[in-house]
Amino acid sequence: MAVMRVAQVSRAQGPFEIVERPIPEPGAGSVRIKVQACGICHSDSLTKEGAFPGIKYPRVPGHEVAGLIDAVGPGVEGWKPGHRVGVGWNGGYCGYCDHCRRGEFFACVQGAITGISYDGGYGDYMVAPASAVALMPADLRAVEAAPLMCAGLTTFNALRNSGARPGDVVAVLGLGGLGHLGVQYAAKMGFHTVGIARGKDKEPLARELGASVYIDSQAQDPAAELLKLGGAKVILATTTSGDAMSAVQGGLAVNGMLLVIGAAESMLVSPLWLLSGCRSVKGWYSGTSIDSQDTLAFSVRAGVRPMNETYPLDRVSEAYDRMMSGRARFRVVLTIAE
Ligand SMILES: [Zn+2]
Ligand SMILES: [Zn+2]
Repeated sequence: MAVMRVAQVSRAQGPFEIVERPIPEPGAGSVRIKVQACGICHSDSLTKEGAFPGIKYPRVPGHEVAGLIDAVGPGVEGWKPGHRVGVGWNGGYCGYCDHCRRGEFFACVQGAITGISYDGGYGDYMVAPASAVALMPADLRAVEAAPLMCAGLTTFNALRNSGARPGDVVAVLGLGGLGHLGVQYAAKMGFHTVGIARGKDKEPLARELGASVYIDSQAQDPAAELLKLGGAKVILATTTSGDAMSAVQGGLAVNGMLLVIGAAESMLVSPLWLLSGCRSVKGWYSGTSIDSQDTLAFSVRAGVRPMNETYPLDRVSEAYDRMMSGRARFRVVLTIAE
C-alpha cells in the first residue's frame, strides 16, 4: 500500500508528529492534491491548540496549500490530474444552502475549513472538495503561491472590495505577514499607499514594498499624520493589537473605513467620530476559491510576492514556533515536494 508522510496533531496542545498514512482516495466531488508547499498561518494555532470548537483529532493543519492534482473523485467537473492548484482557509461550500444561493459562499452553513474540518496541507497529499480548489498560474512557484492562499488572499480581497479608488489614501497598519503583502497590493492597485508600523527601521522596507508614505507609530501620532494627507479612505488593520487599531481610527477621512483583518480581541471606537463623518469599522473574511484564483493571477501580473522563510516537513515544529514567535520575515512555508 502506498503511504505518505503527514505532520499531525493528536490532541489539543499536543506536539506535531510525523506519521505515515495510506495515501487517501478522493471521494465524490473531491480531488487529491500532491502537496508541493504549504504555508504556516497563525490560524493553524486553532488546530494545534484546540481552540476551534468541535475540532476532531488527529488532525493535519495547513490551509495555505499549493500543489498538483493527481487524482479526481467521481462527479468532479473541470479539474484534471496535472492541474496546478491551491487550497485556502475556505474548505469548500455546498452550493445549495441559503447563503450559497445568495452568492455568499464564504458563509456556507457547511462551513468547511481546510486543516480544521478535514486534514490540510502539512503532508505529502491531501484531499479537498473541488469547490475549495483554485487554479495556480504556470509562472508562480508553489512556495510563492502558498502564502498567497491565505495572507495574500485576505489582504487582496479586502482591498479590492473596500470601495477605495485609485489615488485614494489607503493605509496599511502593520508590516508583518499580512501587512507586507497588503502594502504591495495597495500600491499595485494604484492607491496612495501609507505604511504604518512601529519603528523607523521599517521605513526602507515599507518603501521598497510600494508605500509612498511611512508613519512610525512610535515616534508619530498615526491619526494626525493621516489627517495631514486628508485622511485615509481605508485603513487596512492587519495587526493583532486592538490598541494599535484604536490609535489609527482618528485618521479616517469622511466616509472612511477601518477594515479589520487582524484578529485582535477588542478595540475602542469613538461613536461620535464614526457618526460625525459617516465613518465605519468593518471586518473582512478572507475569500473563497475563485477569490484565491484571482489573487494568484493578480500577483503574477503585478509582481506581488510574499517574503518567505522555508522549512522541510520534518522541521515542522521549529517552523511553527518560528511563525508563532512573530519574528519570521514574513511568512513561514513548508517545502514538501518542490
Ligand atoms: Zn490563514
Ligand atoms: Zn452552502
